[in-house]
Amino acid sequence: MGLIVQKFGGTSVADAERIKSAASKIVKSHLDGNRVIVVVSARGKTTDELVNMAYAISDNPASRELDMLLSTGEQITISLMAMAIHSLGYPAISLTGSQVGIRTDSTHTKARIVSISTEKIDVELNNGNIVIVAGFQGIDVESNITTLGRGGSDTTAVALAAKMKADFCEIYTDVDGIYTADPRLVPDAKKLKQITYDEILELASLGAQVMQPRSIEFAKKYDVPIHVRSSFNNSSGTLICKEAPEMEDIVVSGATISKNDAKITIRGIPDKPGQAANIFHEIAAKNINVDMIIQNIGAMGLADVTFTVPKEDLKVAMLTAEEIVKKIEAKEVVADKKIAKLSIVGIGMRIHSGIAEKMFSSLANEKINIQMISTSEIKVSCIIDENMAEKALLAIHKTFGLAN
Ligand code: ADP
Ligand code: ASP
Ligand code: MG
Repeated sequence: MGLIVQKFGGTSVADAERIKSAASKIVKSHLDGNRVIVVVSARGKTTDELVNMAYAISDNPASRELDMLLSTGEQITISLMAMAIHSLGYPAISLTGSQVGIRTDSTHTKARIVSISTEKIDVELNNGNIVIVAGFQGIDVESNITTLGRGGSDTTAVALAAKMKADFCEIYTDVDGIYTADPRLVPDAKKLKQITYDEILELASLGAQVMQPRSIEFAKKYDVPIHVRSSFNNSSGTLICKEAPEMEDIVVSGATISKNDAKITIRGIPDKPGQAANIFHEIAAKNINVDMIIQNIGAMGLADVTFTVPKEDLKVAMLTAEEIVKKIEAKEVVADKKIAKLSIVGIGMRIHSGIAEKMFSSLANEKINIQMISTSEIKVSCIIDENMAEKALLAIHKTFGLAN
């Protein structure tokens, strides 16, 4: 008898029909002789609507209360899903994150799972139930409800699969697998049969929202095989797995864009040792993650430093940067929100050369200016003008032969 974790995302449970159709899939796995744990998201755009409700009331809602509010979306779905399975004639029970014992730290709205207790789930599975768990939520040590960041149901599912030693984790979503690029932006993107943990982790972190990055960290650490597939048809999806030697033959597996970053430039910094440390110490003290950094040595002993931060942290980062400017006697600080990060990812980059150059030439041919560049062993990212993002993605997708 196998143990499977199945996760259904927002679109897949958006209305009564879709919940019923997901319930049939779940029951089929149950009838195949598996023990089934199901993780569900909030229906459709419910989480967005709840966020909007909060901001209609307050410009600065307390993050504890936001979590209390946002977690209700998933609670609706678990009960409806259990009812849908009951009406098909099978046993099911819904459980909240707290009832399952999903313990997190206390970082409201982006909490990290610290432990999961298996007791309650084991009891219910042994009772013959299909267990329906609310994704995206947990509780901290003081029993406050927490949420795991947007897209967090993926992480609930993979973490449960890891903890319960499931045979695999199925992610049912509104696309039938992982593509070489977001199929909404690149119509001729190709579905991948398989992709490595490292590649999807990079793609997801760089903007491909098909999986929450943290879920892949869990999957990689605990070796959880993941199958990303469609909730609307039975076609075989994409397997996220460990690396096999032949997978390095493919140089670039995917491309993605992200518009989640903003760029800050501090100009006219007196060029002397310790300045970068000064700047980034203050930014880090505000818990802001800096991604790319470049420094230009200008004329007359003055330097400029440019770096990117998540857009949501821009306000705080700018206030901090303005204080830094005064402290280190720099000239000024400016922000630019109209940027996009364009990236290509592939483990084959480790053994093939000339990849970055090919990307830059492709952008040059399209007359797209590159503002910043960063590379790692398996990715190249460029910051470009936000308005050029989609055009650039199409161009590099073609250049690397990723299309169907
Ligand atoms: P769910 O609600 O099921 O969690 P998401 O909206 O979070 O679904 O993720 C699925 C979406 O991810 C797709 O509709 C697609 O537009 C987007 N996406 C971005 N990049 C990719 C990619 N490389 N392959 C497949 N889907 C992608
Ligand atoms: N409902 C949450 C969100 O919309 C979590 C999820 O869907 O994974 O972000
Ligand atoms: Mg998602």
